[in-house]
Amino acid sequence: MNGTNSVVKINTKEFCQKFPKIELHAHLNGSLNEDILRQLGCSDTSIEKYQKLTNILNKTTRTLEECFDLFKVAHNATKTQENLYLAAQSVIRDFDKENTIYLELRTTPRSEEDMSKEEYIETVVRAIKDCKNVCSILVKLILSIDRSQDAQTARESLDVILKMKEKHPEIIKGLDLSGNPSVGNFDVNLFEKARRSGLKISIHCAEVKNDEEVKKILEFVPDRLGHCVFLHPKHNGSAENWNIYLEKKIPIECCLTSNITCGIIEKYEAHHIGELIESKLPFSICTDDKGVFRTTLSNEYEQVMKHFDVSPKRLYQFVCETVKQCFASDDEKRLLLVQLQDYYQRVLQEMC
Ligand SMILES: [Zn+2]
Repeated sequence: MNGTNSVVKINTKEFCQKFPKIELHAHLNGSLNEDILRQLGCSDTSIEKYQKLTNILNKTTRTLEECFDLFKVAHNATKTQENLYLAAQSVIRDFDKENTIYLELRTTPRSEEDMSKEEYIETVVRAIKDCKNVCSILVKLILSIDRSQDAQTARESLDVILKMKEKHPEIIKGLDLSGNPSVGNFDVNLFEKARRSGLKISIHCAEVKNDEEVKKILEFVPDRLGHCVFLHPKHNGSAENWNIYLEKKIPIECCLTSNITCGIIEKYEAHHIGELIESKLPFSICTDDKGVFRTTLSNEYEQVMKHFDVSPKRLYQFVCETVKQCFASDDEKRLLLVQLQDYYQRVLQEMC
């Protein structure tokens, strides 16, 4: 796609590739591409399965359930500490290569035959720390509670997460609720405990229509929300919830290609990011699962510019706003803004 922006004649694809980007919503296991899965020693059978599953992306109607099937293949590839370490490093390097200056990677700690949940977290933290030697990207970790976990397991997961957060406070910054949105529910007590312990909260919200749960989540006022497809009344959200949202103005992590691929939004132009831009509501542009949905952060930026008539200067302003929403320290946020301002002076000023 070599589209040009309608306001300034630029090669949008190239521009977005070079632009210093911020990623706030990327799942580790969903961000692995096919090549990485192969390097991790996936059997031919599982790679075949993966390829077969990716064919669902060509179908005209897909279901969220089918998309969630794809993650199982990636989970099988990260069952050992060694593979998990390599997977985390490769995802970080992918983002670094396309000029992402800040990444919040998220993952659900799992216990496997030779790995406890604690070791799972330790391994990802080690990969993040080691990347500092070869990459300039700043990386933080959000740990997820899977919606399908029963209450007892979720409480145990949180205890492990809080213990590890005490050990690595400079890396582990947030807690997320994710997984198949048709399963399980939002347990406010769990997230209140996490918040009291100093974790920031980002919650997958309104991926399916569930006004009752959306209301509970909004009233909890997380630091950020993921997706929020069925929130705006134009997108089948309830007027009551939209009014609560307008009071709270919680930043929304928008993952356009993910929503389209899962079949919950028809096309880029129809994405609710349009309403957020128009109403000057806070948002970020994210990939969700770049491996599963075969996208990149540069591509997500490009689609927003193309489909919502966003100029380079406007994109710059959006990304500066995104810095405010991230879970890094104030000093780190200041450094990110310096990097963006430097880019503005070197490249954008002449262009705008
Ligand atoms: Zn997600």
